[in-house]
Parts: sequence; structure tokens; C-alpha cells
Amino acid sequence: MFNDNEELRIAADTIRQAARERIAPLAAAVDATGELDNEVLSLLWDLGLMTLVFPPEHGGAEQSRGTLLCLAVEEIARHCASSALMLIIQAVGSYPLLHGGSPELLARLLPRIVKNRELVAYLVSEPGAGSDVGALRTTAVRDGDAYVLSGTKCFSTNGPVASLYTVLARTSEKGRDGLSFFLVERDTAGLQVGKIEKKLGQRGSQTSEMYLDQVRVPVGNLLGEEDKGFRLAMMDFDMSRPAIGAQALGIAQGAFGQMVRHAKERRTFGQQLCEHQMIQQIIADSATLIEASRGLVYRAAAQYDKGVRNTKLASMGKLFASDAAMKITTDAIQVFGGYGYMQDYPVERMFRDAKLTQIFEGANQIQRLVIAREILKETA
Ligand SMILES: Cc1cc2nc3c(=O)[nH]c(=O)nc-3n(C[C@H](O)[C@H](O)[C@H](O)COP(=O)(O)OP(=O)(O)OC[C@H]3O[C@@H](n4cnc5c(N)ncnc54)[C@H](O)[C@@H]3O)c2cc1C
Repeated sequence: MFNDNEELRIAADTIRQAARERIAPLAAAVDATGELDNEVLSLLWDLGLMTLVFPPEHGGAEQSRGTLLCLAVEEIARHCASSALMLIIQAVGSYPLLHGGSPELLARLLPRIVKNRELVAYLVSEPGAGSDVGALRTTAVRDGDAYVLSGTKCFSTNGPVASLYTVLARTSEKGRDGLSFFLVERDTAGLQVGKIEKKLGQRGSQTSEMYLDQVRVPVGNLLGEEDKGFRLAMMDFDMSRPAIGAQALGIAQGAFGQMVRHAKERRTFGQQLCEHQMIQQIIADSATLIEASRGLVYRAAAQYDKGVRNTKLASMGKLFASDAAMKITTDAIQVFGGYGYMQDYPVERMFRDAKLTQIFEGANQIQRLVIAREILKETA
């Protein structure tokens, strides 16, 4: 894919090799135990992948950050979607800090995150506000030189293990125009980890409720302007949706590789499975979907890197690649027959992992609304 860009090609080769040799062997155990392996997390930090979107002086890439994030996510998700999710959530959680934090806050926290290898979680969703972010009820009330945050967040990836949280809260009663981001540190009084969810897939990542009970943060922890948090969240999506597309693309490729290998090894009616035309159709359709996903995802990421508005393409990449991943992982199980239904084969895990890509960072129905809205705006 990146044959014309030496830097990206080398990065892809390095990550691909590390993922194949050091992440793939642990993927089944990560899923079974529901815990990310420390060795994997250390590897992601060692390779500089947890800070790819940070400023270069704090471990970030000099350029092509969106593309590099996608590339790393894709290569890792081929083997272990939960491990790839670590890169995504670190980038998503850090975004409001990186793009809204004051110079003082950044100078204090970025070196600390890098040195201590701290995780940043993203607390936006609530029991009554997932797709409809404007409905969120967590409040942030100004009290002297502080804001006091109260509310319940749900589905917080890395909630139980993060040190820092970027929290979207209501600062005024103006729907989505009354929301603001805040940085909350783990040991702040009143912040508590709630129920840890039992999930269908991507089980190596921990997902929890988070309770904020009169959590007091200094005014300097406001990220961006007051009441402008929704906009920051939407800008974050322009980076993160291609990355979710890349995760889906990686899962799809993992399943595709398994599918083709099995179709060559297994014999029915005196022939290899891959000699049957109906199996060839599955192989051809899957490969075509993968190539189309790759085109959309990396175009969206390239636009992000150029600073060109990519909202429509980001949604298209996420939508198309996640639907493709769901279809390809389902078909991979079909090619495996009964074996695909068993936990002994990785396609069963990949099928479960793929489903999440259709749901988070905006469910696919919401992506369609975004795409249509962008087109209607363009043609107004
Ligand atoms: C494992 C996991 C990890 C997550 N991690 C995080 C995280 O780290 N931080 C965070 O803030 N959130 C996180 N989320 C939350 C995720 O972003 C939301 O689940 C998602 O946005 C959907 O919101 P919801 O679950 O409330 O569904 P709802 O908003 O209730 O939607 C339910 C269904 O209705 C559809 N729908 C809703 N509105 C419309 C409409 N107007 N038109 C058509 N269809 C519609 C949706 O597409 C969806 O299919 C995570 C979720 C999961 C499952």
C-alpha cells in the first residue's frame, strides 16, 4: 500500500513483524482472560505507538499521524483487536487534552504520560446519551476557581486502568452547545470506577461505568472553551473514525487469511474447498471488500493529515470497513463450517471482535446520517 512512501512502508513493516511475532501468539489468551497482556502493552509503548498523535517533542510522529495511527491499528488488529483498541482509545482520549489543553496543562501532563506510560480514557457516553451526545446529563458547575463534576458515564474503555480521563460534561442548558471537556486525574476525590462489563468481543480491553460524585477540578482543567466541547468531540471523530475503519480492516484481513488457508487445506467431495466455485466467490467478494475498505480508510486518514475536512470520508471509511469486517468474519466462519463455530479457531474471536466496530465511535446508522448531512450541505 505504501510502496511510494519509504517512511510509511518501513513503519508498516516494523509494526507488522512485531504484531506477528509478539502479539499474535498472545491474542487467544488476551480474549480468554479478559485482560490485556502487560508484555503487549509494553511493546505498544516501546514502539512509540501509544503517543503517535502527540506532538513530536512528546513522542509523536513528525507527520502523517492519522495515517500512521491507522496503519498501526490495522497491523495489530489483524491478530488482536483488543490490543489495537489500546492505540485508538489512547489517541481518542488524549485528543481533547492535546487540542484543548492550556500550555501549562500540556507541559505538566504530556511528559508525565510518556514517562510513566499512563493511559488516557474518554468519558463521553452515558446511560441516557450514546448516539445522542446532546442529551448527556453529567454536570460541571463553576465554583470559585474550580468546576465540580457530577454524573455517571458508561462503556468507558480503559476506565478501570487509566490514570487520566477526558470527561464531557454539561456547563449550560443549551443541548449540545452547552457541553465542555475537562481533564480529571484518577486520584481525584469523588471519581470511582463502577461495574466492569462482560462483553461479546474485544474482551482484552476493560470497559466500565465511571461515577463522578462532586469531583472538583481546577478551572485550568477545562479543555478548550466552555460550551465548545461538542465541537472538540466532532473533531476527534475525524481522527478516530478512520482508525476504527482500520481496526475493522485489520480484523477482516485476519479472518480472510484464515479463510484462504483453510479453504486450501480442507477437502470435500474429493477436492480442496477452494476449488469449489461458491467458496471462490466468498474469497473474491471478501478480497474486494478489503481493498475497497483500505481505499476509503486511508483516503480519509490522508485528508486528515493534510488538514482537509474529512468528516464525510471518515464516516464512509468507518461504515464501509466495519460492515465489510462483519460480513467477512461471518463468511470466514462459514468457510470453516462447524470448526469455525468453535473457540479453537481464531475466526470465532474475530467474528465477535468485528461487531464492536459497527457500534462504537458512532453506530453505523449515525455514520449514514453524517454522510447524508455532509452531502446535503455540499449540494446546498
Ligand atoms: C465496548 C464498547 C466500548 C466503548 N467505549 C467507549 C468509550 O471509551 N468512551 C465513550 O464515551 N463511549 C464508549 N462507547 C460507547 C459507544 O460509543 C456507544 O455505545 C455508541 O455511541 C452507541 O450509543 P448507545 O450504545 O447509547 O446506543 P443508542 O444511542 O441507544 O442507539 C441504539 C441503536 O439505535 C440507533 N440509532 C440511534 N439514534 C438513531 C437515529 N437518529 N436514527 C437511526 N438510528 C439511530 C443506533 O445506531 C444504534 O444502532 C463504547 C461502547 C462499547 C460497546
